[in-house]
Amino acid sequence: NSNRHEKDKEVNVQVLLRCRPLNEDEQRLNVPKVISCNEHRKEVTVMQNLANKQIDRIFTFDKVFGPKAQQRSIYDQAVAPIVNEVLDGFNCTIFAYGQTGTGKTYTMEGGMRKKVGELPAEAGVIPRAVRQIFDTLEAQNADYSMKVTFLELYNEEITDLLASEDHSRYMEDRQKKPISLMEDGKGCVVVRGLEEVAVYSANEIYTLLEQGASKRRTADTLLNKRSSRSHSIFSITTYIKEATIGEEEIIKCGKLNLVDLAGSENISRSGAREGRAKEAGEINKSLLTLGRVINALVEHSPHIPYRDSKLTRLLRDSLGGKTKTCIIATISPSAHSLEETLSTLDYAYRAK
Ligand code: ADP
Ligand code: MG
Repeated sequence: NSNRHEKDKEVNVQVLLRCRPLNEDEQRLNVPKVISCNEHRKEVTVMQNLANKQIDRIFTFDKVFGPKAQQRSIYDQAVAPIVNEVLDGFNCTIFAYGQTGTGKTYTMEGGMRKKVGELPAEAGVIPRAVRQIFDTLEAQNADYSMKVTFLELYNEEITDLLASEDHSRYMEDRQKKPISLMEDGKGCVVVRGLEEVAVYSANEIYTLLEQGASKRRTADTLLNKRSSRSHSIFSITTYIKEATIGEEEIIKCGKLNLVDLAGSENISRSGAREGRAKEAGEINKSLLTLGRVINALVEHSPHIPYRDSKLTRLLRDSLGGKTKTCIIATISPSAHSLEETLSTLDYAYRAK
């Protein structure tokens, strides 16, 4: 039994680092690179020239993916094992954390569909996870169902990215009753008023992703890049029938949360700058609390401050305990992003 106890104390937080390539503009302008990745040694080196002295800093992670890493290889190495846990009945969470423009959405959603039935090489974590779930369950001839939700958290307020238009207009009429978070007394979180969509094939995910992404885009033009200041959570819940005993069906239930976090620049800058105060403060709240929750889990602290932000309340049943968490920290190789890159590396490194 002591073995079992040890296992319960294990913390299943994995931190990966992904560095995007220089984009076309950066290449055209010959922007210097300050990052070098060694995938084999799982190291990222930041090359810094301070007062004419070359000072390198090295950070180690559970895995490192350089600019040439393909979507597929990140998925196969880092995400596929987590999806298998979900199919075994566990709750798991994958975060993309990093400065705006470093590839969080590219990593999570990636390039869109080209042909029905085929995953494009640029497909990100979400469509690949859905595909793996369907393929695995079909191969096992399982009796299963699957539901997804897609929400956005902005200023500690939840917006449903899958709510049908009629529904949201109806909500507007009724003064847009906000979606509320409740706890059921057993530590489970219930999000009241959130649309849950049953999914029957992997291809449907693209329609849902496009629908949700277009809502975020619309909000961008209205509110000046809202998407860089909001978190989005795509959750997949699987229900697999294990047995029938008498009248009762035994269902194995697992949940995967795929979280595209607000740009990490919201943490480092807003603290120093006045102005934009409330909003920055609220964004900070969820990102900072997430950092604290993960630190507390890693350090086996008796108090995990889940309650301090909506993000951590939302994910409470999928962080800590018998769950697996993976943080994909994304950075840019450009000298222009050096300061933000260092703060991302520090945040991610502390989560280990
Ligand atoms: P974020 O969501 O962190 O703000 P995006 O995912 O929108 O950043 O990425 C910014 C731009 O860089 C997009 O045009 C995206 O396609 C591109 N990009 C990001 N990561 C990669 C990568 N690893 N390979 C190729 N292009 C990338
Ligand atoms: Mg994005």
